[in-house]
Amino acid sequence: MQAQRARQFTVESAPYQHNRLAHRHEDVKIETEHFVQTVVKPHAEAIRRMGAIPDEVIRALGTAGWFGLLIPRKFGGRGLDCLARILNVEYMTRGCPDVGAVLQIGQLGTGTLIEFGSPAQQAKWLPLLATGERLCTISITEEQSGSHILGMQTTYEERGDGYVLNGEKWFIGNCPISNLHVVFALDQNQKKLSAFIVEGERPGVDNTMRHKTIGLRAFPFGRLKLDEVEIPRANLIGTIGQGQDIAHRIISHHGRPSLTALALGIHHRIYDLAYSYSGYRELYGKNLRALPEIRQKIFEIYERFELCRQSAYEAAELDSTGEKSYRALSLAKYLNSERAFESAMIATDIFGARAGLPEYEIGQLMLDAMMTRPPSGTGDVQKRRIMEHLFEEKTPAWEVDEDENRLAQVG
Ligand SMILES: Cc1cc2nc3c(=O)[nH]c(=O)nc-3n(C[C@H](O)[C@H](O)[C@H](O)COP(=O)(O)OP(=O)(O)OC[C@H]3O[C@@H](n4cnc5c(N)ncnc54)[C@H](O)[C@@H]3O)c2cc1C
Repeated sequence: MQAQRARQFTVESAPYQHNRLAHRHEDVKIETEHFVQTVVKPHAEAIRRMGAIPDEVIRALGTAGWFGLLIPRKFGGRGLDCLARILNVEYMTRGCPDVGAVLQIGQLGTGTLIEFGSPAQQAKWLPLLATGERLCTISITEEQSGSHILGMQTTYEERGDGYVLNGEKWFIGNCPISNLHVVFALDQNQKKLSAFIVEGERPGVDNTMRHKTIGLRAFPFGRLKLDEVEIPRANLIGTIGQGQDIAHRIISHHGRPSLTALALGIHHRIYDLAYSYSGYRELYGKNLRALPEIRQKIFEIYERFELCRQSAYEAAELDSTGEKSYRALSLAKYLNSERAFESAMIATDIFGARAGLPEYEIGQLMLDAMMTRPPSGTGDVQKRRIMEHLFEEKTPAWEVDEDENRLAQVG
């Protein structure tokens, strides 16, 4: 008994399936794991305990080029694809979920500029985003308009040679540490949704209000207040009224894979923790994993984890190769966030009372997994989208073949 108390609980890698797809980006996985070991791990325990990520870790993410993973090489990025993004965020999150969360959300505003930015906007901003000199939010959600994007209150008004923005965004990832924002707003008649670039230093921009959370406690998450913020015409992304298409595309093809990877990384850590604990804890003179009920629970976590991983990598591979991936990305996001949360609950059972002690981490991971469920479409919204696709042939505009006589539905 005495000997067991003195033994340190250490988390080791649980056995997992070799994956053919992941092999294509083995170098990204290895480099990410090295970054985790050398830069993130030394701070991971303090990040959990203090609920804050040191600036040096965020800066290191930028210098390593991780924020620029998807940015084309001609703008100083790594020019990689969706599968590389999944592996990068998964392994970063496995090392520290809060750091993984910062990394994944950093891809959304950047993704908007990669896909919809004008040549001048791309030349100006992408090189700065690639090095982390600028960090960019995607600012859509408001207190009253979560899933219902068109219910937002933030407005733009054409004035002089540009636009004036007013409103307040809630639940914005990386907001307190970002100095660039992709903001969605409606015209004064509440009809035309449009997207704009807003620099953090403009008068009237306030990103200092931070939400206190119980999951992903160190993830910088906050409100963006816009009070009579003047921006030039050059800051409009795409055209006036294109905002709904832009939001739909970015949520589907950047938000969902990013959130999938975050949930997958948390799931990976849950599996590692549960497996390691079952070999650490001794009961009846044997390891806990000698009990058939405990083996069964570990199997349930393993099964969920491998299936989720497969679905994440397959969806990303489809996206990377330019195949139609809308439904696969939605399914991967749904499965990964829901099943990670379920696995966390099974794991807390294995830990008994220790699940409630912060040093065993598993209780915190359950709350972290919970945080991956609402963004980029809650579980029910995700199911609704998939069912619309299955039963009503509602296909997003970018997936309708020209020879297919189908009605493009965006919403
Ligand atoms: C970790 C995290 C990071 C985030 N980052 C960002 C960010 O960077 N930028 C940003 O703009 N937002 C961000 N969000 C906000 C996120 O996009 C919203 O939480 C999400 O859109 C859901 O909105 P809501 O939380 O207001 O829930 P609500 O929309 O109020 O939903 C409440 C409930 O109603 C259900 N519901 C709503 N509509 C439907 C429907 N049509 N069919 C069936 N059920 C429905 C939902 O499933 C849910 O169960 C983030 C949230 C989290 C937790």
